[in-house]
Amino acid sequence: MTHNSRDSYAILLSSQLQSGLYMQGPTPRPWIDTLGIYQGGKSKIAGIDRAIKLSSNESALGPSPKAMAAYREEATQLHRYPDPIYHDLRAALAQKYDLDPGRIVCGLGSDEILKNLCRAYAAPSDEVIYSRYGFMMYPIAAQAVGAVPVEADDDNFVAHVDSLLAAVTDKTRIVFLANPNNPTGTYLSAQELDRLHAGLPTNVILVIDSAYAEYVNFDDYDAGLELVAKAPNVVMTRTFSKLYGLGSLRIGWGYAQSEIAAVLDKIRDPFNVSGPAQKAAIAALQDHEFEEKALAHNSYWRRWLSDELTALGLTVIPSAANFVLVRFADTTISAEQANNYLMQKGYILRWLPGQGLADCLRMTVGLQEENEAVIGHLKELMQGA
Ligand SMILES: *Cc1c(COP(=O)(O)O)cnc(C)c1O
Repeated sequence: MTHNSRDSYAILLSSQLQSGLYMQGPTPRPWIDTLGIYQGGKSKIAGIDRAIKLSSNESALGPSPKAMAAYREEATQLHRYPDPIYHDLRAALAQKYDLDPGRIVCGLGSDEILKNLCRAYAAPSDEVIYSRYGFMMYPIAAQAVGAVPVEADDDNFVAHVDSLLAAVTDKTRIVFLANPNNPTGTYLSAQELDRLHAGLPTNVILVIDSAYAEYVNFDDYDAGLELVAKAPNVVMTRTFSKLYGLGSLRIGWGYAQSEIAAVLDKIRDPFNVSGPAQKAAIAALQDHEFEEKALAHNSYWRRWLSDELTALGLTVIPSAANFVLVRFADTTISAEQANNYLMQKGYILRWLPGQGLADCLRMTVGLQEENEAVIGHLKELMQGA
């Protein structure tokens, strides 16, 4: 530091001291103060050795065995930086889904892609729309950049296209839609998605978050690829955290038109996806046996759980994903009481009062013995009451 610059620095400091600025210490941007923190599902219960976690929509069957083997094999390469452009992973995705690898982006979980879309396209006081009971990351991602999260009404736990469109203003930059949605499990048909897209101005990005796409077995569903193929303002995001059971590795991907893909590539960190995550994801994509087993397991037990819960007098919101949302509407036992009772028995479900769902529990489809145990305990509780 030269004499002169040190002098001017001293003047600056003393003027900051006088203005009180220096005494305040570092101050985050104003919108960070009110920023919500994403609450993950609990994984431990005090006093219980091994709690059964059915609170985060994780894979009932664990990770794909082929993915585990690929992950272990990559241990000898931990000193190497990962492939910064995920060449092999993008090739594997392109082959599996018949896509242009140049339009595939990868992220540290699909959450990173959702956040980067806000960082790239929404400025402070711009608006970001999502549906009531939409995924909690959307308002958080919007607020993190100072944008205003705007919640559109749903229709009986299903996203409502007309309400989403009615919420659009000239400040709207992004519409987030989880399809199927978490925590409701409901989905919009391809036709409804088309209608939503057709009603949006072309400068608004429609983000179709298809984290649970693999689980959907309804003919009128499309994960969003058809729309991305024909529209310049649609992004589809996917994840390896659910069907493939790789939540801990943090890896997701997205598909967009080349300009948006290039923007997302520009603002991400250079090595955002680790080498083991890339290798495990490629192996998981090629593990057809695991895929089939996991899907068959989910369809069977999702149906079984829905039937059993309904028989207990509870209202099950029709689910297309790997979890069910259960309403304790006209019951003597409340959702909170049921949640506490199951916790005492060692089972963690998700009670979501913070999302306006205080009369609901969300339960991830578990293993046979886990599903049967939860239903057994609920029977004791509800029929003893
Ligand atoms: C679980 C989930 C994700 C996936 O997040 P990752 O960051 O890929 O683990 C995205 N969207 C929704 C709606 C989810 O439920």
